[in-house]
Amino acid sequence: MDPPSVTLAGADLFQKRATRLRELVVQVPALDEFLEFMARVVQAQHQVLTDKAPGWKPAPDAFDEALKHGLPPLGYQALLRDVHWQGDLSALLEGVEFHIGQRQRPLLESLRSKTADELDALAVNVLEARSGSHEERPLMPLVAAALQVTWVRLAQALPRAPDKPAVQAEALCPTCGCPPVASVIHGEQYRSGVRYLHCSLCATEWHLERVKCSLCGEGGQLIYLGLDDENGKPFLPIQAEACDHCDHYLKVALREQHGRADPVADNLASLALDLMLAEEGKYSPSGYNPLLIVGD
Ligand SMILES: [Zn+2]
Ligand SMILES: [Zn+2]
Repeated sequence: MDPPSVTLAGADLFQKRATRLRELVVQVPALDEFLEFMARVVQAQHQVLTDKAPGWKPAPDAFDEALKHGLPPLGYQALLRDVHWQGDLSALLEGVEFHIGQRQRPLLESLRSKTADELDALAVNVLEARSGSHEERPLMPLVAAALQVTWVRLAQALPRAPDKPAVQAEALCPTCGCPPVASVIHGEQYRSGVRYLHCSLCATEWHLERVKCSLCGEGGQLIYLGLDDENGKPFLPIQAEACDHCDHYLKVALREQHGRADPVADNLASLALDLMLAEEGKYSPSGYNPLLIVGD
C-alpha cells in the first residue's frame, strides 16, 4: 500500500497536541509558562472543535469544482467573510478564561472589546503572515487559534482530501493555500520515514520527498541542525532542515525519534533553535507558525 499523498486533520489533532505540550512544559523548564499557556489554548481548541456546532455549513457540493480542478477548495480569501470564525473565537476565549494567569487576562478583554471589522482585520493579518502593530501582536495567536479551529472543521467536512499539489505549488497547502508550519516524518508502519508538510492553518498534511528543500526544491545543499542536551544527545525530536541554495530553513518533527513529536508543539518548544539561527543570521525561516508571531 502506498502512503497517502494528502491527509486531512483527524478529530484528535488538538487533543494530541495539548498532551504533547504538557509533556514539553516539564521537559523545557525555560519555557514552562509559555508552553503551559499554549497547552491551555490548544486544549480549548479541542473543546471548541468537539462541542460547538459550526456557524456556517457549506452546500454539500460547494467544493466539488475546486477539488476536480486541483485548486485549494478552502482558500481563505474567498471564505473569511462567510465562515463565522468569530463565533469560534468567542468560544475559545470562554474555554481559556478560567485557566490562564493574570498576565494573559488583558488579552481576552482586549479581544472582546473589538468590533467585528477590527477582528476581521486581525484575521487577515494572521492569514497573510503580517506581524501587525505592536499592540495587536500579542492578540494574534488567539485569533490564529480560532481560525485554525474554523478551518480544521471545514477541512474535515470536505468530501475527500485534495489531490497532491502540482510541483510548482507544492510549498503551499492543497486544501487552503497557506504555507506549512513545519514538516513531519512519520513513524507508523504504513508510512514509516515518509515526510509530509503540515499546514499552518487547516493542519492538512501533504507528501514531499525527503532531502528536498520545501521552498526552492533543491536537494543537494541541505544540512540538519538540532538542539543537543548536556550529553550531546538530541534534546527534542525536531531539527531545522536548512538549505544552502536559498538560505532558508524549515523545522522537521521526527516521529521516528518520538512517537508524539508534533510540528506545532515541538516547534514552539524548540524556540531556542530559531533564536540560535537568527543570531547566526545565515538562514531565514520559511515556515509560518501563527501561534508565535514574532515582530520585525
Ligand atoms: Zn491548509
Ligand atoms: Zn532551498
